[in-house]
Formats: sequence, C-alpha cells, structure tokens
Amino acid sequence: MSPRRPHRPQAAGARTGARTVSEAAPRSGTVVESYGRRVIVRADETGERLACKLRGRRLEVVAGDRVVLQPESAHEGAWLVQDRLPRRNVLLRTDSRGLDESIAANLDQLGVVVAPRPNCDPFIVDRYFAGAGYAGIPPLLILNKEDLLGGADDGGPDFGFVEIYRRIGIPVEQVSAKKGTGLERLIERLRGKRTLLAGQSGVGKSSLTNALCGDAWRATSELSTGSGEGRHTTVASAIVQLAWGELADSPGVRDYAPPVVDAKDVQAGFVEIAERAAGCRFQDCLHVREPQCAVQAAVATGEIDPRRHESYQRLLNLNRQLDEKRGWRA
Ligand code: GDP
Ligand code: ZN
Repeated sequence: MSPRRPHRPQAAGARTGARTVSEAAPRSGTVVESYGRRVIVRADETGERLACKLRGRRLEVVAGDRVVLQPESAHEGAWLVQDRLPRRNVLLRTDSRGLDESIAANLDQLGVVVAPRPNCDPFIVDRYFAGAGYAGIPPLLILNKEDLLGGADDGGPDFGFVEIYRRIGIPVEQVSAKKGTGLERLIERLRGKRTLLAGQSGVGKSSLTNALCGDAWRATSELSTGSGEGRHTTVASAIVQLAWGELADSPGVRDYAPPVVDAKDVQAGFVEIAERAAGCRFQDCLHVREPQCAVQAAVATGEIDPRRHESYQRLLNLNRQLDEKRGWRA
C-alpha cells in the first residue's frame, strides 16, 4: 500500500519510475513507541501509525519526539526517520555508569505514583521530582490505594510525607485504582496533557493505567504485554492517546536516578531549596555546611522539611559518585 497523498505542493520534481516523489513526500509525526533503532510514528496528517527505522546511527529519538520522515527508497511504503525536531523538554535518567539516557520527550507532566503499601521510599519520589525539575517538567503526585488509608485494622499507614509535597506546591491526587475512586479528579489533572507515569514497582501503576485507559493501553502498546514488536527488542518508551489526554510509560522510570549535573545545579530539582538560594552568602553555596546559608537556616526553622534537605544531600552525593564513574570512563 502506498502512503496517502499529502495535501501539499509537489516537492523537488524528479519521477522515480511510475511513482512520483510527491506520492511519498516528507511527512512529519510524533513518535509514539520507541524500540531503540525502530519506532512507531503517528503521522500528523492522517493519524496513521507508521513503522519506521532511524536514519543514521547518531539520531536518537524517544516517545514524544517530533520527527520528519522520508520514504525508504528500497521498500515501498517503508519510512525512515530523517530528523528529530527540537525538543520542548526531555526527561533524562542516568544509568549505573553515569551515562545519560533519554526516557521521553515533550512532556507536560510527570506523574509519580505512590501508595501506602509497599512502603514508600520518599527519596525515590524526590529523585523523580528532581529529574522533572532539571527538565522543567511540572510534577504531579498520585497517591494510589487510598482504600488502604486509615483502615481500622491496618494500623493506619503514615502518609504525612504527602503533606510536604503539597506545601512545596506539588499537586496531589488521591485515588484507588482498585475501587475506581478519585479517577475523575485525576483525569481533570491529566486532561489535554501528555503525562509520563512513574513509580516504584507495586504501587499500582499498571492497575491505574488500566483503570484510566481500559483496553487502549494494551491495544496500542506492547509495553505491558511484551508481545509482538516488543518481544525481541527493548522498549524505550510508549505513548497512548486517549480522549482526554496522553499517557506515557517507559521501563526507564524504574529504578530511576536523574542525570548527572554540576553540583551547583542539583538544587534545581528541589524547588523550595532553589528559591531560597539567592539569600545565601556565597553564590556557589551548596547548602550543606557553608556559613550564612539561607537554606540551612530555613531547615532550622522548619520552613524547609529536614527530610527533603537530607534527600537533596543524598542526591548531591549520588551525583558526585556518578560523575566520578563517568570521569573514569572518559
Ligand atoms: P505496579 O507494579 O506499580 O504496576 O503495580 P500493580 O498495578 O501490578 O499493582 C500491585 C498490587 O497492588 C496488585 O496486587 C494490585 O491489585 C494492587 N493494587 C493496585 N491498585 C490498588 C488500589 O487502589 N488499592 C489496593 N488495595 N490495591 C491495589
Ligand atoms: Zn546555601
């Protein structure tokens, strides 16, 4: 099947046999599934899902990337990703060797899912929010399994730490994927946006995705089933388009560590620390042991939560360790 004729004037003239170039003129689209060198692109004009290969080894694309496609001359109906258009943002992670990896691009929101059980590690939550902060992606906290909160017989899991996120301006939505409660309010938060969902395993991310998307998820993405296209290749990231917005998913958000940055930029991942840094005596203050530090002063008065400050210091250390590993390789 040859691609549908785009509604635009014919591009540079030459005829190739019976087919004119215009029949297969360049097209643009959004990457909705990425398997390393192979991707699925949703074409702008027709909404078709086109299986494409990447042209050249240096091109790197992930779900959410805007791309330009060219027909692959040797195979009719096959497309090559020619180019990646500039990104509005990209969520990066670092692997254990300190190397950056892109997870997904052009996101409107990072939704971090937590639950009363399994026990939530707030340091992991802070690492997600730090990665989003580095990339300039607005955060959202989704507290799942609200049906387990404050139950008479369950000893009442402590969710006080959620309050700290509310205080620093992160929106919090409380839901139960199992009971279906809170989903409408959550959908209002997701409406018109592309949201990447992240979270520790067991928090109910798949249950929540299923509750929000129904069959749309499994029908369009091999991420959750490991079948088809995905079986023999590593899925980097995928996006599902729904009536009210888009959800993105990636195995890259498991075991997440933000990319390595300059030590002085780690604070960009902690909004309440970054906004006080201007009050420190030293411009390059890392807010750890420096004198006349506005951040340490705010920790002392309780304006900054000590646990968040501790988390910041842990990320500062992790950042240094990963940076050293990276240095050894270079
Ligand atoms: P994932 O690893 O984050 O994808 O988590 P799953 O979706 O596989 O869910 C992990 C476990 O939590 C499963 O046993 C789910 O049935 C359970 N679960 C998910 N959502 C809820 C919820 O809202 N309430 C309760 N009580 N259990 C849930
Ligand atoms: Zn300081």
